[in-house]
Amino acid sequence: MELDLLIRNGILLDPVNRTEKRLNLGVRQSTIAYIGEETPAAKRLIDAEGLMVSPGFVDTHMHDEELEDPGTIQQALLRQGVTTALAGNCGSGPSLERVMEKRSSPWLNLGYLTGHRALREDAGIWDVYKAATEAEIERMGEQLKKELSLGSFGLSFGLEYAPNTSPREIEALCRILADHPNRFVSIHIRHDGPECLESVAEAIGLAERFRIRVQVSHLGSMTAFGFTERSIRLIEEARARGADVTFDCYPYAAFCTFIGSTVFDPGFEERWGKGLESLEAASGKYRGKRLTPEIYEDMRKNDPKALIIAHVMNEWEIRACLRHPLCAIASDGVLHNGEGHPRAAGAFPRALRWLREEGLSWPEAVRHATVLPAEMSWLPVGRMEVGAPADLVLFSPEGLCDRATFEDQLAPPEGIAAVLVNGQIAVEDGVLSPEPRGRLLLREP
Ligand SMILES: [Zn+2]
Repeated sequence: MELDLLIRNGILLDPVNRTEKRLNLGVRQSTIAYIGEETPAAKRLIDAEGLMVSPGFVDTHMHDEELEDPGTIQQALLRQGVTTALAGNCGSGPSLERVMEKRSSPWLNLGYLTGHRALREDAGIWDVYKAATEAEIERMGEQLKKELSLGSFGLSFGLEYAPNTSPREIEALCRILADHPNRFVSIHIRHDGPECLESVAEAIGLAERFRIRVQVSHLGSMTAFGFTERSIRLIEEARARGADVTFDCYPYAAFCTFIGSTVFDPGFEERWGKGLESLEAASGKYRGKRLTPEIYEDMRKNDPKALIIAHVMNEWEIRACLRHPLCAIASDGVLHNGEGHPRAAGAFPRALRWLREEGLSWPEAVRHATVLPAEMSWLPVGRMEVGAPADLVLFSPEGLCDRATFEDQLAPPEGIAAVLVNGQIAVEDGVLSPEPRGRLLLREP
């Protein structure tokens, strides 16, 4: 049977066997149907001379909270080569029930974790400083079971954003998760800065006690204040004991979150050893301005959902995270009214560039963006083989470069020639397909 598409003359990157070979690749419907040196008949040809052909990138940690404007963040990720993503991280995110009601087709293949905060709000807890009662914990557990039966990929905590969440509350929810195979818990840990080691240990303890997979979220932004090496060692030791712990990281020495969140409660300057001048408004009326005491007060009071970029981490520690063989590249992309951190538009090309600078081969580098994150969430993607989903990214090895900056936050990267989602062209020469090519991913119960 004729192929729908043949990609000729490209260098195929195989992140499993860590090889790169000049071969042709054929697509039939949504699947890779041919890999080899022949030129079988196809309805369409793409000449990939000079290009790398990689499995599409897998982003297990992004944010897609704004149901009113889903397209912007999805398109920003797609233009980087991301073909599969998981939303609902750091404890936030809509319930899967609401997503299924409201959502049209996504621009990439998109699954959801159930956010702890959404569970709390469903149980009537709107005060992030409140500890849940027994009755509320019970209600959260029932809702979590419902979400998991609908197809949620697991549970996410943003413990730093709900600082008085009790061990009892966390354990009750983890116990439910342990009854569901192939689900995981992503944890934005309780503390960044000096107390992060205890917080990493708390996350590891959950993996060990409940025999569940725990993905420590954006390890760099929590620990790159002099604690990354020790944090990674804790994770390595836990894995040697048999604990199922993984982590992800984005390639920037600045993090981004809402000014009204607990992260910016008094005490943050001591925690990071940096003052207000290292904080930059990323959205709203002060966008682009460094904070002063007056701007801080005004934003906290009057625009708590405005995003702040905090230039507070050590880049060398972020690099140490990223190059670790266990670390998945993840964007943590988050936007508010289309504004935010450049990671939403640049994380993957930038991380791959960093990994190349660290001496990794292309197959080794894309492993951190493909099969590694895919296996972390039991997704059958990220592989270069016949029968695998035809989610692909074609890029120029010399030209691949992020262009998003703190000033021009959504500038798409350079060097991405084409992105295929479910066997169909979703981006070609920087132009998006007229219709979304992705679908909602649901975990089978
Ligand atoms: Zn987070």
